[in-house]
Amino acid sequence: MNLSARTKVCALIGHPVEHSLSPIIQNAAFQHLGLDYVYVAFNVKPEDLGYAVLGAKSLGIHGLNVTMPHKVEVIRYLDELDGDARLIGSVNTILNSNGRLIGYTTDGIGVLNALKYAGEDPANKKIIVLGAGGASRSISFSLAKYARELVILNRTVDKAEGLAKDIACSLGIRADTVRFGKLDYSHLETELKDADIVINATSVGMKPNDEETPIKRELLHSGLTVFDIVYEPLETRLLREAKLAGAKTIDGLSMLIHQGAASFEIWTGVKAPIEVMREAALKKIRETHEVSAPQQFKG
Ligand code: NAP
Repeated sequence: MNLSARTKVCALIGHPVEHSLSPIIQNAAFQHLGLDYVYVAFNVKPEDLGYAVLGAKSLGIHGLNVTMPHKVEVIRYLDELDGDARLIGSVNTILNSNGRLIGYTTDGIGVLNALKYAGEDPANKKIIVLGAGGASRSISFSLAKYARELVILNRTVDKAEGLAKDIACSLGIRADTVRFGKLDYSHLETELKDADIVINATSVGMKPNDEETPIKRELLHSGLTVFDIVYEPLETRLLREAKLAGAKTIDGLSMLIHQGAASFEIWTGVKAPIEVMREAALKKIRETHEVSAPQQFKG
């Protein structure tokens, strides 16, 4: 890496950020393409967010990724919002365009592109999204534009209802195209029978609770594509059992890579090298597991 006074700096801001894979993924892509960019991570406490963002602007930092807990709060410090970021009310990518900070969200596009990369076109499909938190919000907004039918199931049903109504209202979609319900056996049994794609956007199955699964094994079938956005562990119990049922599976690292790739393309204007980014992340995950006890990775 040849850093100079011309090197463009990109960074992650979040709290905490120490276990993030983003520096590994982004620097591998910059180096592979010979781009004069570097990516670092800054641990920014909530009370320091404004100073950090305005400081980044003054320092001419070219791009930022924003992770928990700043994805919503950061909006007040930006000059402009891209359409999806405004619609969803969340930002995970910032471009410093000649001193103007423009906010984007690439979480939804990350899932969309991960599906397409795996040969799964969400258009005209029945899609079930489990969860109604921050990740589900971005994913559900993005997929609702393409799905024949979107069903949001959540432990707290009020949150699923709020999200479904927000989507229908914001996108002008008929309310019966975006439905909601409780995340329980009976709803899963009914909805999964004729579903094409199911996406786990809850934290169920994430380490250290990796023996948990949001869907009982007997409800999985070979007509499904099962996408688990949890990526620690990489193969969750849900994905393991989905494979045994003959379903197609997509892991959470795919979402991380594709949302990172979309950020990369916003900053550089160059197509991201997906396989290079995924290989770099897998190498880091393997090394970390060899050296120490398993730990939690963050985007
Ligand atoms: P969040 O806003 O805190 O939402 C958590 C969701 O999980 C809520 O819907 C919550 O339901 C549900 N949940 C939690 N524990 C549950 C349980 N025991 N049973 C049933 N439902 C439960 O979190 P988030 O930011 O959306 O993240 C969700 C997961 O996605 C995390 O594991 C995160 O690591 C992963 N993620 C992955 C990527 C990626 O790039 N692969 C990106 C973002 C997030 P209630 O509403 O009922 O509490």
